Amino acid sequence: MSESFSNWIAGEWTAGATSIENRNPSDGSDVIGWYAQADAGQLDRAIGAARAAQPEWAARGLEQRQAVLESVGRELMDRAVELGTLLSREEGKPFAEGKGEVYRAGQFFTYYAAECLRQLGENADSVRPGIEIDMRREPVGVVAVVSPWNFPVATASWKIAPALAYGNAVVWKPANLTPALAVALTEILSRQDLPAGTFNLVMGPGSEVGQRLVESPDIDAISFTGSVPVGKRIAAAAVANLTKVQLEMGSKNPLVVMDDADLDVAVKAALAGAFSGTGQKCTASSRLIVHEKVHDDFVERLVAGARAMKVGPALAEGTEVGPVVSADQLAEDLRYLELGRSEGAELLCGGERVPCATEGHFLSPAVFAGTDMGMRINQEEMFAPITAVLRVGSYEEALATANATPYGLTSGIVTTSLARATHFRRHSRSGCVMVNLPTAGTDYHVAFGGRGDSSYGPREQGRYAAEFYTTVKTVYAAAGDPA
Ligand code: NAP
Ligand code: MG
Repeated sequence: MSESFSNWIAGEWTAGATSIENRNPSDGSDVIGWYAQADAGQLDRAIGAARAAQPEWAARGLEQRQAVLESVGRELMDRAVELGTLLSREEGKPFAEGKGEVYRAGQFFTYYAAECLRQLGENADSVRPGIEIDMRREPVGVVAVVSPWNFPVATASWKIAPALAYGNAVVWKPANLTPALAVALTEILSRQDLPAGTFNLVMGPGSEVGQRLVESPDIDAISFTGSVPVGKRIAAAAVANLTKVQLEMGSKNPLVVMDDADLDVAVKAALAGAFSGTGQKCTASSRLIVHEKVHDDFVERLVAGARAMKVGPALAEGTEVGPVVSADQLAEDLRYLELGRSEGAELLCGGERVPCATEGHFLSPAVFAGTDMGMRINQEEMFAPITAVLRVGSYEEALATANATPYGLTSGIVTTSLARATHFRRHSRSGCVMVNLPTAGTDYHVAFGGRGDSSYGPREQGRYAAEFYTTVKTVYAAAGDPA
C-alpha cells in the first residue's frame, strides 16, 4: 500500500472523506500515492479559515512577508533535483524540464519576495485646494487559485507567490492529475511563519470542489489556468457574485517561417515549440505557417528532427519526449490524429504508440502537412505532440493565417528581415510575440497572458500581477490649518 497524503486546511493536515490514486504516466505499475479529496464541509472550512487569517497576514510587516516568500523560493530551488524527479514521475515531462520547472517555481517566490518591498503608491494634489490625495494598493482578500496539470508547480506558484506577497490569503485547488507537486509545495508552505489559514490546499474533483470554490460568495478573486470551457463556467460563476476573475486558457499558437528564414533556427524553434512538454503547453507551436519557397526544405528537416527525438519514460536517460499525461489524454490525441487524416491532412511522421520497457502513454511526435485553416486540427487546441504545417505564398498571407483563430496567447516568426519582424511584432494578434524563438518559453518578471479566447482579465506575472492581486484605494485628506 502506498502512502496517503492529506489536504492542508486551517493550518492542519486533513484527511479526505475519499482519496484518489496518482499513477506514473511513464509506468502504469508505479503508484505515487493516494491523495485526499476534500468534501464540501472541508472546503467551506478552508475558505472560512482564509477569511479569518487574511487580515492578520496583511498586517504583518513587509519584511516578514518577504522572508516567507524568500524561504519558500530558496527551498524550491535547493530541492529542484528531488522535486523535479517527483514532477517528472507524476506528470511525465523529461527530467530536465521537471527540474527546470521546480527551479522556476522557486524564482516566482524569490521575485515576489523582492516585490514585497516595492509596493509603492502614488500621490496627487486635489483639484480642490487644501486637499491631498494618495492612492495605495490593498490586498484583494481571499484568492481562489485553480491550476492545471501541465505545469503543476510553476503555474500555481506564479499565482500563489503574488497572492501572498500582496497580503492575500489563498485557497488552492490543483489539478487532480498532479497532486504530488501540490502536496510538496504545500508541505514547504506549511513550515513557514504564516497565520493558520493563510494558505490552504483543497484537492478534489474540479467539477465538485473546484466548482463549489469558484461559486463561493466568500472569496474575493479567482485566478484560473486551464481550458476554455472550464474558464467560461468559472467566469459565469464569478460574475454571479461579482468576484474578481482572471483566466488563462488555451491557444493555437502559430510559428511563421518566412522565405528569408535561417532554417536551422526555424527547425529548432519548431521542434522545441511543438514537442517540448510532449506538446502539452498552452504556448505550444501547433500551427507552422511556412512560406512556399522554403516549405519542402523546412518540412523535410522538421520531419527528420521529429523522427530523431527520443520518446520514452520521463526519467530515462536521453528522453526528449515523455509520455502523454494520462490514458484519457492519449485517447484524445489519437482521436485528433484520426480526425486530421479524415480531414485530408497528410501525416508525415509520428502519431504512433511507442513500445518501451514500462507500460506508459508513449506517442511519437506527429507532423501533419497539406493542411488548411478550415480543418479542425488547425482550429482546436489539441494539447498533444502533434503539429500541422500550413503552406502560404506571402508574408501578408502568413500574418492573416497566424491571426485566423479565436485564440491569441503566443505567436512567433522566423525571419532575417527586420521589416517583417517589426511588422509582425505589431500586427500579430497575441499576448506574447517571439522573434526567431520558439512560441513556448517565457520569463517570470514580465507580463504573461493572451488575447481573444486565450485570456480574460488582468495579466499575470511581473509587476502586472499587482493589478489582479490588489485593489486601489484613493484617499482624500483635507490638510487642515497648521496654526
Ligand atoms: P481543465 O480541465 O480546464 O482544468 C484546469 C483546472 O480546473 C483543474 O484544476 C481542474 O480540476 C479544474 N476544474 C475543472 N472543472 C472545474 C469546474 N467546473 N470548476 C472549477 N474548476 C474546475 O484544464 P486541464 O485539462 O487541467 O489543463 C489543460 C488546459 O489548460 C489546456 O486547455 C491548456 O491550454 C490550458 N493551459 C493554459 C495555460 C495558460 O497560461 N494560458 C497554461 C497551462 C495550461 P481537475 O483537473 O481536478 O478536474
Ligand atoms: Mg482536466
